Amino acid sequence: MSVNEEFALAQAEEADRKIASGDFGMLTGIPCAIKDNILVQDQKCTAGSKILENYVAPYDATVIKRLRAEGAVMLGKTNLDEFAMGGSGENSAFGPTKNPHDKTRVAGGSSSGSGAAVAANEACYALGSDTGGSIRMPASNCGVVGLKPTYGAVSRYGLIPFASSLDQIGPITKSVEDAKVVFKAISGKDPMDATSVDYNFEDSKVGLKGLKIGVPKEYFVKGIDKEVEKIIRNSIKKAENAGAEIEEITLPSVEFALACYYIIAPSEASANLARFDGIKYGLSEKGNNLLDVYLKSKGHGFGDEVKRRIMIGTYALSSGYYDAYYKKAQEVRQLIKQDFAKAFEKVDLIFCPVSPVPAIKIGERTADPLSMYLMDIYTVSVNLAGLPALSMPVGKIGDLPIGLQIIGNHFQENKILATASVIEKAQVF
Ligand code: GLN
Repeated sequence: MSVNEEFALAQAEEADRKIASGDFGMLTGIPCAIKDNILVQDQKCTAGSKILENYVAPYDATVIKRLRAEGAVMLGKTNLDEFAMGGSGENSAFGPTKNPHDKTRVAGGSSSGSGAAVAANEACYALGSDTGGSIRMPASNCGVVGLKPTYGAVSRYGLIPFASSLDQIGPITKSVEDAKVVFKAISGKDPMDATSVDYNFEDSKVGLKGLKIGVPKEYFVKGIDKEVEKIIRNSIKKAENAGAEIEEITLPSVEFALACYYIIAPSEASANLARFDGIKYGLSEKGNNLLDVYLKSKGHGFGDEVKRRIMIGTYALSSGYYDAYYKKAQEVRQLIKQDFAKAFEKVDLIFCPVSPVPAIKIGERTADPLSMYLMDIYTVSVNLAGLPALSMPVGKIGDLPIGLQIIGNHFQENKILATASVIEKAQVF
C-alpha cells in the first residue's frame, strides 16, 4: 500500500471533530485502503500502470464521496494488476503483491493490495473492484471476506474502467459484519452512473435451517485441486448438518463462461483504453508526428497483459470478426444468465469454490497466460450474469486460506451476507 500520511492525518483530525460533535457513523475514524483504480481527489491514481504513474485524480469517485461522508480515514492506495487485468496481482507495473500468509505466493488479483492490506492488518477494510473475480480471488487467497455486489448496486463513477458491463466496486473486510457496513455505506443510486439503481440495503436475518443451497455439478468435474474440493465439500456438508437443504444443480452453459468472458472483457477494455493515447492522460512520449506519439506512449506505457487484451479486443470487434466473436459471446452470455435464473427458481443461494487452486507461487504461471485465465473458471460467470457473490474463508491448506463462494440472485446481498454471517458467527465451519 502507498500511504499518504499527511492526507490520512487530516482525515483523522476531521474524524476526531465529528466524534467530538457527536455526529458520527459506523465508519468514522476507521482506517481503510483504496484500490488504486478508484479516484481520490488530488491523490495519485496509477491503475497499476506506467502510463498513469504520475496521474493525479481531479475528483472523487462516488464511493469515495460516500466514505468521506461517513468520516472514513483513507490511509492510501493499494497495488493491483495493471488496469485490473489479472488474477494473481503479478501484472502490476510496480511489482507483484506478496501474500501475507506466505510471501513466496501471490495475494490473488486483481485487487491484490486490498486483500493483502486487510489480511496483514494494515487497514481495517479496503475497496476493490471485480470484473471477473478480482474481489473474490484476493479475498480467498488472503483469508478475508470479499463481496462483489450486484451489477448496478454500487456506482462506478470514478472507477477507471476495465470492462464496463462487468465492473463493480465492493468491500474487502475482516468479517462479514464489516462487509455489510461498508456495502451499506457505498451502495445506492448515483446520478453520475446511469447503470446504478435505487437500492437500499437492509440487513436481514436468516438461519441455515430450510435454506436451499444449490451446488453446481459442473464445478467439481475437472481441474479442481483435491484439497480445495475437500474443504468446499466439507463446508457444504456442515451447512447441511445445520439444517440447510442441499440440491445438486446444473449450469450447462458455464463451460463456455471463460471463452465468453475473455472475448467480452477484452473487447470492452480495448474501447475503454483507447483514451490513453499519450495526449489526454498520463505518460506522453515525444514523437515525430501524432501517430509516433501514440505508438511510443502506448508502447512504453502499457504492460504485456494490457497489450494482449487490447489486441484480442480490437480483433474480436473488427468488422470481419464481430459476428463470429463478440456477437456470439453476447449470445452465450444470455445463456449463462438464463442458467442462473433457472437455478434460482429452485434454490436460495449457490455454494461453490472461488478458485480451483490455493494461492500460486509468484512466477508460477506468468509465462502461460492461458493457465492464469483458467483460475477464473468459478468467478467470471457471476459477472457475466450481473449477480452478487461473496468469498469467505472456510479452511486452510497448510498456511494457505481457502475461500467459499456464495452466489445469490440479483440484489440479494442481504441473503448472502445473512447466511455468511450465520456461518461465521456460529462457526459451523
Ligand atoms: N482475472 C480476471 C481477468 O484477468 C478478472 C479480473 C477482474 O475481476 N478485474 O480479467
